[in-house]
Amino acid sequence: MYRRHLIKGLVALGACRICVQAAQATSAHWGYTGPVGPEHWADLDKKNFVCSAGTQQSPIDINSAVKADIPHIAIGWHKGGGNMVNNGHTIQINMPQGSTLTRGDRVYELVQFHFHAPSEHHVAGKSFPLEVHFVHKDTQSGTLGVLGVFLTPGATNASFAALAAAFPELP
Ligand SMILES: [Zn+2]
Repeated sequence: MYRRHLIKGLVALGACRICVQAAQATSAHWGYTGPVGPEHWADLDKKNFVCSAGTQQSPIDINSAVKADIPHIAIGWHKGGGNMVNNGHTIQINMPQGSTLTRGDRVYELVQFHFHAPSEHHVAGKSFPLEVHFVHKDTQSGTLGVLGVFLTPGATNASFAALAAAFPELP
């Protein structure tokens, strides 16, 4: 697979602040530091209540993985399409309908994917230069399923290089 040199690992099905926005129409201004940083997210907008009430927060440091009996995950993504935006937090590619992720008998539609530099998640305390979050929405319940992938420098990946060349510099 051509992505082998670039993609270092499958991270988790989780949710970051940008992922959560996929399920919300609007959100107050937020950031990663200062008065709009993570410790204040719950206070910025009542929609953010999970930021202070949740018990299974993402991102996480994966340092004691155990084998689990979980449903098979299958990716059915289509190439091309989408609308790339710089939203002030990240580069995000909003996807047209048709790409899916299935987890057992649950079907998730790929809504968008975006980048974090450096990675939000860690493995045994180690950060990665880039992390992609592929944000999917369950076609039945509307809940999100996020596939995180770490990227590290290596052989050129033509698809990623073409995408990166088109990254808009300004929001
Ligand atoms: Zn994210």
